Amino acid sequence: MKSEKIDISGKGFRYQALVGAGLMEKAGELIRERVAISDCAIIADENSARLFEAPVRNSLVEQGFQPLTIVISPGENSKSLKVVEQICDKMITANLDRTSFILGLGGGVIGDISGFVASIFHRGIPHIQIPTTLLAMIDSAIGGKTGVNVKLGKNLIGAFHHPSLVIADVDALDSLPPQELRQGYAEIIKHGIIRDAEMLRHLRDRKTTDCAKLICRNITIKAQIVSKDDREVSGERAVLNFGHTIGHAIERAANFEVPHGDCVSLGMVAACHVSMKRAGLSAAERDQVVELLQKFDLPTQLLREIPPRQIFEAIRRDKKFERGQIRFIVVPKLGRACVSREVTMEDLREATAQL
Ligand code: NAD
Repeated sequence: MKSEKIDISGKGFRYQALVGAGLMEKAGELIRERVAISDCAIIADENSARLFEAPVRNSLVEQGFQPLTIVISPGENSKSLKVVEQICDKMITANLDRTSFILGLGGGVIGDISGFVASIFHRGIPHIQIPTTLLAMIDSAIGGKTGVNVKLGKNLIGAFHHPSLVIADVDALDSLPPQELRQGYAEIIKHGIIRDAEMLRHLRDRKTTDCAKLICRNITIKAQIVSKDDREVSGERAVLNFGHTIGHAIERAANFEVPHGDCVSLGMVAACHVSMKRAGLSAAERDQVVELLQKFDLPTQLLREIPPRQIFEAIRRDKKFERGQIRFIVVPKLGRACVSREVTMEDLREATAQL
């Protein structure tokens, strides 16, 4: 077992992300090196539990941990306050307390809900993540955002609670369906657009075949951004929202029937149009982005009839707008994103119409 270690730190937090093959079976050892306490809850969904709970549990038991496994239904609907309460009840019944820790084993849904429970259980206990989707490895497990959905919107209830350790075992990706893999690639391409033009070139030329290397590179990009502004105060973290303003609006207008990464892909194409108009992005660079998204089977044109009025309504309700003013992420040049306050609603209308 050889793993890459990435140190992630910022104001008030410091942890490592370990990336490599065969790490699940060594999870107990890797956690024991860093954690003295023994009681813990493994939180997984039915799929991640079926695939990975046994090796993770065995390796924990070998190291003297006493894990309680809690399995929830897969999917976004589980990210709810009701499920949070059910998890807490099970943990309290099993006598877990403030000296315990939580291990989230699964995709972004599990990372978000297990992290949120860790942030509130006995006013906060450590959270370790074993992300099992590409998206969770390169995005949701890093950065400390946790939370659940309510009827009125996604991720509206939550807390910042950084993990104590992230273990990304690339072997987990072998069982991931292509549609889920694609969701991760949408965020990888986003990272390239905002911070790493060279990675975009490698992806285009398919030079980056080493999956672990690609994951490390993306964790590093997200970590560098989050380290400077984990609470989204200075605006630095906002660049991670590239493509998400229109992407979220499409997602809502489509009643969440189109996967998030696909919506972000469309949102990035629209954001490139806006960047051409407001920030000087060249048409050639916009075309490179479109070709790359297509190469990873991500949509670049609206395939179904979604009423534009609904998309604009959704844009107006976006929490990233401050008192009606649009804070839109543009890319003057691939690899360099920034916040613009010059983008108008008409620009967004135009860009969406071109999809
Ligand atoms: P997910 O967690 O729903 O996982 C997708 C599907 O894949 C599920 O059915 C799951 O059971 C299954 N699965 C997981 N690992 C598998 C594996 N190795 N093999 C086979 N199947 C597997 O989806 P996701 O895309 O990982 O995460 C999406 C969630 O992440 C959303 O709720 C989103 O809001 C959140 N998110 C959070 C952040 C953050 O910063 N906290 C960032 C981005 C996204």
